[in-house]
Amino acid sequence: MGTPISLGNVFGVHLRIDITVFLVAAMFVVNGLGSNGLSGVLDEVTFVILLFLSIYLHEMGHAAGARVFGISTLDVTLTFFGGYARLGRPTRGTVEEVVVSFAGPAANLAIGGGLYWWLGSDQSGVVSDHSWRILWRLADANLALGIFNLLPGYPLDGGHIARAVLTNFIKRNRARVIVGYIGAGIGLLLVALGLQSGGLGFTVFLGILLIISAAQEIQAAKSSRF
Ligand SMILES: [Zn+2]
Repeated sequence: MGTPISLGNVFGVHLRIDITVFLVAAMFVVNGLGSNGLSGVLDEVTFVILLFLSIYLHEMGHAAGARVFGISTLDVTLTFFGGYARLGRPTRGTVEEVVVSFAGPAANLAIGGGLYWWLGSDQSGVVSDHSWRILWRLADANLALGIFNLLPGYPLDGGHIARAVLTNFIKRNRARVIVGYIGAGIGLLLVALGLQSGGLGFTVFLGILLIISAAQEIQAAKSSRF
């Protein structure tokens, strides 16, 4: 998909943006135009920037979790389907993998929870009704991001956690296959849900990506001799 655009160092971690992010932004803008004209577009642009900021904070959560174990983060990249952090070395053992994997969704759950709490207390006079609605939508999105990423299927963070825990009871490759199948199942579910709610949207895309990624993991685990 080409080389991501570098935005330099932010909080000591190299930040990159894949140009496919602008595809997502464009989807939101078209959506806004369709529903509310120019003010709808402004709302969607504001929301999509805040959404990618939340995804960025998710990845920085992983980076912070990794730092606890002295693992550096090479870079954080935002893409069409979210983002990823590249670590200086793979995590070792259950505790490292669970903490680093959980730290990403935990950031979203903290943002969502914090926003619900703040918006739920009386903010009249501080936030306009209009901004309130955008921020509430952002809280919903963060809650969804946190929960979705914790589902126990590869390649989601929850899949990494499940794999790390299962590895204590069964052979690692067996755990990889199981978590892979769960990931493929989640992908299939997304495709079905996406198709049901009106065609080839983002959900269908995401589902297909999950299935491909999970299938590769299953294949790799099955062909591995370790
Ligand atoms: Zn993550």
